Amino acid sequence: MQPHLLSVDELSRDDIERILGRAESFAEVSGREIKKVPTLRGRTVINLFYEASTRTQSSFELAAKRLSADLITLKAAGSAVDKGESLKDTVQTLSAYDPAAIIIRSPHAGAAGLVARWTSAAVINAGDGKHEHPTQALLDLYTLKRRAGSLEGLKVWIVGDVLHSRVARSNILAFTRMGCEVTVCGPPTLIPRGIESLGCGVRYTLDELGSADVVYALRMQRERMTGSFVPSLREYAACYQIDGRRLGPSQLLMHPGPVNRGVELAAEVIDSPQALITEQVESGIVVRMAVLYELLAGRGAPNGARAGAETEPQPA
Ligand code: ASP
Repeated sequence: MQPHLLSVDELSRDDIERILGRAESFAEVSGREIKKVPTLRGRTVINLFYEASTRTQSSFELAAKRLSADLITLKAAGSAVDKGESLKDTVQTLSAYDPAAIIIRSPHAGAAGLVARWTSAAVINAGDGKHEHPTQALLDLYTLKRRAGSLEGLKVWIVGDVLHSRVARSNILAFTRMGCEVTVCGPPTLIPRGIESLGCGVRYTLDELGSADVVYALRMQRERMTGSFVPSLREYAACYQIDGRRLGPSQLLMHPGPVNRGVELAAEVIDSPQALITEQVESGIVVRMAVLYELLAGRGAPNGARAGAETEPQPA
Protein backbone atom coordinates (compact mmCIF):
# COMPACT_ATOMS: atom_id res chain seq x y z
CA MET A 1 0.00 0.00 0.00
CA GLN A 2 1.17 3.55 -0.79
CA PRO A 3 1.93 5.97 2.08
CA HIS A 4 -1.15 7.94 0.95
CA LEU A 5 -4.73 7.03 0.07
CA LEU A 6 -5.51 8.98 -3.08
CA SER A 7 -7.47 6.51 -5.17
CA VAL A 8 -9.02 3.04 -4.97
CA ASP A 9 -7.03 2.15 -8.05
CA GLU A 10 -3.82 1.96 -6.03
CA LEU A 11 -5.29 -0.57 -3.56
CA SER A 12 -4.87 -4.29 -4.15
CA ARG A 13 -7.54 -6.75 -3.08
CA ASP A 14 -5.28 -7.68 -0.16
CA ASP A 15 -4.99 -4.04 0.90
CA ILE A 16 -8.77 -3.74 0.86
CA GLU A 17 -9.25 -6.98 2.81
CA ARG A 18 -6.76 -5.78 5.40
CA ILE A 19 -8.53 -2.42 5.86
CA LEU A 20 -11.93 -4.14 6.16
CA GLY A 21 -10.52 -6.58 8.70
CA ARG A 22 -9.02 -3.75 10.70
CA ALA A 23 -12.34 -1.87 10.59
CA GLU A 24 -13.97 -4.99 12.00
CA SER A 25 -11.64 -4.86 15.02
CA PHE A 26 -12.47 -1.18 15.53
CA ALA A 27 -16.18 -2.02 15.45
CA GLU A 28 -15.58 -3.85 18.70
CA VAL A 29 -14.03 -0.66 20.16
CA SER A 30 -17.08 1.32 19.00
CA GLY A 31 -19.28 -0.99 21.03
CA ARG A 32 -17.43 -0.11 24.27
CA GLU A 33 -18.51 2.64 26.61
CA ILE A 34 -15.14 4.38 26.20
CA LYS A 35 -14.65 4.28 22.44
CA LYS A 36 -11.00 5.20 22.38
CA VAL A 37 -7.61 3.58 21.78
CA PRO A 38 -4.18 5.18 22.24
CA THR A 39 -2.77 4.32 18.80
CA LEU A 40 -2.18 7.87 17.52
CA ARG A 41 -1.50 9.58 20.84
CA GLY A 42 0.79 12.57 20.33
CA ARG A 43 0.28 12.63 16.56
CA THR A 44 -1.47 15.37 14.64
CA VAL A 45 -4.18 14.90 12.03
CA ILE A 46 -5.42 17.81 9.92
CA ASN A 47 -8.83 17.81 8.26
CA LEU A 48 -8.75 20.30 5.37
CA PHE A 49 -12.19 20.74 3.83
CA TYR A 50 -12.60 23.02 0.82
CA GLU A 51 -16.07 21.74 -0.01
CA ALA A 52 -19.26 21.07 1.94
CA SER A 53 -19.41 17.83 3.91
CA THR A 54 -21.43 16.38 6.77
CA ARG A 55 -20.64 12.66 6.98
CA THR A 56 -17.09 12.54 5.73
CA GLN A 57 -15.84 15.43 7.83
CA SER A 58 -17.58 14.37 11.04
CA SER A 59 -16.59 10.73 10.74
CA PHE A 60 -12.94 11.54 10.02
CA GLU A 61 -13.01 13.80 13.10
CA LEU A 62 -14.46 11.07 15.27
CA ALA A 63 -12.08 8.49 13.80
CA ALA A 64 -9.01 10.61 14.58
CA LYS A 65 -10.30 11.38 18.08
CA ARG A 66 -11.06 7.74 18.82
CA LEU A 67 -7.47 6.93 17.88
CA SER A 68 -6.36 9.67 20.36
CA ALA A 69 -4.77 11.93 17.70
CA ASP A 70 -4.61 15.70 18.08
CA LEU A 71 -7.01 16.99 15.47
CA ILE A 72 -7.42 20.30 13.66
CA THR A 73 -10.29 20.87 11.24
CA LEU A 74 -10.01 23.73 8.76
CA LYS A 75 -12.67 24.78 6.32
CA ALA A 76 -11.96 27.09 3.41
CA ALA A 77 -14.56 29.57 4.67
CA GLY A 78 -13.11 31.44 7.62
CA SER A 79 -9.49 30.39 6.93
CA ALA A 80 -6.77 32.34 5.10
CA VAL A 81 -8.09 30.73 1.88
CA ASP A 82 -10.73 33.49 2.10
CA LYS A 83 -7.84 35.96 1.93
CA GLY A 84 -6.53 34.38 -1.26
CA GLU A 85 -3.96 31.94 0.13
CA SER A 86 -3.24 29.18 -2.37
CA LEU A 87 -3.67 25.49 -1.60
CA LYS A 88 0.08 25.00 -1.81
CA ASP A 89 0.81 27.81 0.66
CA THR A 90 -1.89 26.53 3.02
CA VAL A 91 -0.47 23.00 2.93
CA GLN A 92 3.07 24.24 3.49
CA THR A 93 1.90 26.39 6.40
CA LEU A 94 0.05 23.49 8.01
CA SER A 95 3.00 21.17 7.40
CA ALA A 96 4.98 23.33 9.83
CA TYR A 97 2.94 21.61 12.57
CA ASP A 98 4.47 18.28 11.48
CA PRO A 99 1.14 16.52 10.95
CA ALA A 100 1.08 12.74 10.57
CA ALA A 101 -1.85 12.98 8.15
CA ILE A 102 -3.69 15.57 6.08
CA ILE A 103 -7.22 14.68 5.02
CA ILE A 104 -8.26 16.82 2.08
CA ARG A 105 -11.59 17.45 0.38
CA SER A 106 -11.55 19.70 -2.65
CA PRO A 107 -13.84 20.60 -5.56
CA HIS A 108 -10.87 20.04 -7.89
CA ALA A 109 -9.98 16.63 -9.36
CA GLY A 110 -6.35 15.81 -8.59
CA ALA A 111 -6.07 18.16 -5.57
CA ALA A 112 -5.22 15.35 -3.14
CA GLY A 113 -2.42 14.16 -5.44
CA LEU A 114 -0.97 17.67 -5.48
CA VAL A 115 -1.13 17.96 -1.70
CA ALA A 116 0.82 14.68 -1.44
CA ARG A 117 3.66 16.34 -3.37
CA TRP A 118 3.81 19.33 -1.03
CA THR A 119 3.91 17.65 2.37
CA SER A 120 5.64 14.76 4.07
CA ALA A 121 2.38 13.86 5.87
CA ALA A 122 0.25 10.92 4.73
CA VAL A 123 -2.49 12.36 2.53
CA ILE A 124 -6.02 10.97 2.45
CA ASN A 125 -8.34 11.94 -0.36
CA ALA A 126 -11.74 12.75 1.16
CA GLY A 127 -13.22 13.54 -2.28
CA ASP A 128 -11.58 15.51 -5.09
CA GLY A 129 -14.05 16.95 -7.59
CA LYS A 130 -15.40 14.33 -9.97
CA HIS A 131 -12.34 12.12 -9.52
CA GLU A 132 -12.45 9.79 -6.49
CA HIS A 133 -13.71 9.29 -2.94
CA PRO A 134 -11.82 6.18 -1.81
CA THR A 135 -12.96 6.04 1.81
CA GLN A 136 -16.60 6.16 0.70
CA ALA A 137 -15.97 3.09 -1.45
CA LEU A 138 -14.24 1.29 1.42
CA LEU A 139 -17.05 1.99 3.85
CA ASP A 140 -19.57 0.83 1.25
CA LEU A 141 -17.70 -2.46 0.84
CA TYR A 142 -17.55 -2.88 4.60
CA THR A 143 -21.28 -2.17 5.02
CA LEU A 144 -22.31 -4.47 2.20
CA LYS A 145 -20.05 -7.29 3.35
CA ARG A 146 -21.52 -7.10 6.84
CA ARG A 147 -25.07 -7.36 5.51
CA ALA A 148 -24.56 -9.77 2.59
CA GLY A 149 -21.83 -11.97 4.14
CA SER A 150 -19.72 -12.08 0.99
CA LEU A 151 -19.09 -9.65 -1.85
CA GLU A 152 -18.02 -12.23 -4.42
CA GLY A 153 -20.40 -12.44 -7.36
CA LEU A 154 -22.87 -9.82 -6.09
CA LYS A 155 -24.60 -7.91 -8.89
CA VAL A 156 -24.44 -4.19 -8.10
CA TRP A 157 -26.30 -1.56 -10.12
CA ILE A 158 -25.07 2.03 -9.70
CA VAL A 159 -27.92 4.28 -10.81
CA GLY A 160 -28.00 8.01 -11.53
CA ASP A 161 -25.56 10.82 -12.21
CA VAL A 162 -22.47 8.74 -12.88
CA LEU A 163 -20.85 11.51 -14.92
CA HIS A 164 -20.33 13.92 -12.02
CA SER A 165 -19.88 11.34 -9.28
CA ARG A 166 -16.53 10.59 -7.66
CA VAL A 167 -18.34 7.94 -5.62
CA ALA A 168 -19.32 6.11 -8.82
CA ARG A 169 -15.72 6.01 -10.04
CA SER A 170 -14.29 4.79 -6.72
CA ASN A 171 -17.09 2.29 -6.23
CA ILE A 172 -16.87 0.75 -9.70
CA LEU A 173 -13.17 0.13 -9.02
CA ALA A 174 -13.75 -1.14 -5.49
CA PHE A 175 -16.73 -3.40 -6.19
CA THR A 176 -15.12 -4.99 -9.26
CA ARG A 177 -11.85 -5.55 -7.40
CA MET A 178 -13.76 -7.46 -4.74
CA GLY A 179 -15.46 -9.73 -7.27
CA CYS A 180 -18.81 -7.97 -7.75
CA GLU A 181 -20.42 -7.58 -11.16
CA VAL A 182 -21.09 -3.86 -11.65
CA THR A 183 -23.58 -2.20 -14.01
CA VAL A 184 -24.02 1.57 -14.24
CA CYS A 185 -27.37 2.97 -15.31
CA GLY A 186 -28.67 6.45 -16.07
CA PRO A 187 -29.63 8.78 -18.88
CA PRO A 188 -27.00 8.76 -21.68
CA THR A 189 -26.13 12.40 -20.86
CA LEU A 190 -25.05 11.34 -17.35
CA ILE A 191 -22.99 8.25 -18.26
CA PRO A 192 -19.39 9.07 -19.26
CA ARG A 193 -18.31 7.71 -22.62
CA GLY A 194 -15.92 4.76 -22.29
CA ILE A 195 -16.87 3.99 -18.66
CA GLU A 196 -16.93 0.27 -19.60
CA SER A 197 -13.13 0.39 -19.56
CA LEU A 198 -13.38 0.43 -15.73
CA GLY A 199 -14.87 -3.06 -15.92
CA CYS A 200 -18.61 -2.33 -15.64
CA GLY A 201 -21.63 -2.85 -17.89
CA VAL A 202 -23.85 0.04 -18.99
CA ARG A 203 -27.65 0.32 -19.22
CA TYR A 204 -29.73 3.35 -20.06
CA THR A 205 -33.03 2.11 -18.61
CA LEU A 206 -34.07 0.38 -15.40
CA ASP A 207 -35.80 -2.43 -17.33
CA GLU A 208 -33.40 -5.09 -16.03
CA LEU A 209 -32.98 -3.66 -12.53
CA GLY A 210 -34.61 -6.82 -11.18
CA SER A 211 -31.37 -8.72 -11.87
CA ALA A 212 -29.46 -6.62 -9.28
CA ASP A 213 -28.71 -7.82 -5.75
CA VAL A 214 -27.76 -4.29 -4.72
CA VAL A 215 -29.08 -0.98 -6.03
CA TYR A 216 -26.65 1.87 -5.34
CA ALA A 217 -28.36 5.20 -6.07
CA LEU A 218 -26.40 8.39 -6.69
CA ARG A 219 -27.34 11.98 -5.99
CA MET A 220 -27.88 14.38 -8.89
CA GLN A 221 -24.74 16.51 -8.49
CA ARG A 222 -26.34 19.79 -9.46
CA GLU A 223 -23.41 21.81 -8.10
CA ARG A 224 -21.15 20.22 -10.72
CA MET A 225 -23.51 20.58 -13.68
CA THR A 226 -22.67 23.40 -16.05
CA GLY A 227 -25.51 22.73 -18.48
CA SER A 228 -28.79 20.94 -18.55
CA PHE A 229 -28.31 17.18 -18.50
CA VAL A 230 -31.91 16.09 -18.01
CA PRO A 231 -35.10 17.78 -19.26
CA SER A 232 -36.31 18.24 -15.65
CA LEU A 233 -35.90 16.57 -12.27
CA ARG A 234 -39.49 15.37 -12.60
CA GLU A 235 -38.75 13.55 -15.81
CA TYR A 236 -35.52 12.19 -14.36
CA ALA A 237 -37.46 10.84 -11.38
CA ALA A 238 -40.11 9.32 -13.64
CA CYS A 239 -37.46 7.25 -15.47
CA TYR A 240 -34.76 6.61 -12.84
CA GLN A 241 -36.11 7.15 -9.33
CA ILE A 242 -35.82 4.08 -7.12
CA ASP A 243 -39.20 3.64 -5.46
CA GLY A 244 -41.21 0.87 -3.82
CA ARG A 245 -42.39 -0.35 -7.21
CA ARG A 246 -38.91 -0.69 -8.67
CA LEU A 247 -37.02 -2.03 -5.66
CA GLY A 248 -37.68 -5.74 -5.16
CA PRO A 249 -38.12 -7.15 -1.62
CA SER A 250 -34.81 -9.03 -1.67
CA GLN A 251 -32.73 -6.20 -3.15
CA LEU A 252 -30.49 -4.07 -0.94
CA LEU A 253 -30.40 -0.29 -1.33
CA MET A 254 -27.38 1.96 -0.81
CA HIS A 255 -26.77 5.71 -1.23
CA PRO A 256 -23.69 7.74 -0.18
CA GLY A 257 -25.79 10.69 1.07
CA PRO A 258 -26.91 13.38 1.07
CA VAL A 259 -30.16 12.06 -0.40
CA ASN A 260 -32.43 14.25 -2.48
CA ARG A 261 -35.71 12.80 -1.27
CA GLY A 262 -38.19 12.49 -4.09
CA VAL A 263 -35.51 12.78 -6.81
CA GLU A 264 -33.23 9.73 -6.90
CA LEU A 265 -35.03 7.93 -4.06
CA ALA A 266 -38.67 7.85 -2.98
CA ALA A 267 -39.34 8.25 0.74
CA GLU A 268 -40.73 4.71 1.11
CA VAL A 269 -37.44 3.05 0.08
CA ILE A 270 -35.22 5.33 2.18
CA ASP A 271 -36.99 4.12 5.28
CA SER A 272 -37.32 0.49 4.20
CA PRO A 273 -35.47 -2.39 5.92
CA GLN A 274 -33.54 -3.01 2.69
CA ALA A 275 -31.87 0.40 2.92
CA LEU A 276 -28.30 0.34 4.27
CA ILE A 277 -27.99 4.15 4.29
CA THR A 278 -27.72 4.54 8.07
CA GLU A 279 -25.32 1.59 8.32
CA GLN A 280 -23.14 3.28 5.68
CA VAL A 281 -22.88 6.37 7.90
CA GLU A 282 -22.06 4.23 10.96
CA SER A 283 -19.39 2.33 9.05
CA GLY A 284 -17.70 5.60 8.13
CA ILE A 285 -16.10 5.91 11.56
CA VAL A 286 -14.54 2.45 11.86
CA VAL A 287 -13.42 2.34 8.23
CA ARG A 288 -11.75 5.76 8.53
CA MET A 289 -10.13 4.63 11.80
CA ALA A 290 -8.82 1.62 9.88
CA VAL A 291 -7.44 3.81 7.06
CA LEU A 292 -5.71 6.14 9.53
CA TYR A 293 -4.33 3.12 11.35
CA GLU A 294 -3.04 1.48 8.16
CA LEU A 295 -1.32 4.64 6.94
CA LEU A 296 0.09 5.82 10.25
CA ALA A 297 0.67 2.73 12.31
CA GLY A 298 0.05 -0.39 10.25
CA ARG A 299 1.71 -2.03 7.27
CA GLY A 300 1.18 0.98 5.01
CA ALA A 301 3.13 3.24 7.36
CA PRO A 302 6.53 4.43 6.21
CA ASN A 303 9.54 3.08 8.18
CA GLY A 304 9.90 4.67 11.55
CA ALA A 305 6.30 5.86 11.62
CA ARG A 306 4.90 2.76 13.25
CA ALA A 307 4.51 4.28 16.69
CA GLY A 308 1.76 2.33 18.35
CA ALA A 309 1.74 -0.27 15.57
CA GLU A 310 1.84 -3.05 18.09
CA THR A 311 -1.12 -1.49 19.87
CA GLU A 312 -4.08 -3.65 19.06
CA PRO A 313 -7.31 -1.94 20.05
CA GLN A 314 -7.02 -1.44 23.84
CA PRO A 315 -8.87 1.11 25.93
CA ALA A 316 -7.05 4.49 26.12
N1 ASP B 1 -21.16 12.66 -0.21
C1 ASP B 1 -20.70 12.12 -1.47
C2 ASP B 1 -19.57 12.95 -2.03
O1 ASP B 1 -19.05 13.80 -1.34
C3 ASP B 1 -21.81 11.94 -2.45
C4 ASP B 1 -22.55 13.17 -2.85
O2 ASP B 1 -22.21 14.28 -2.43
O3 ASP B 1 -23.49 13.01 -3.60
O4 ASP B 1 -19.19 12.75 -3.17
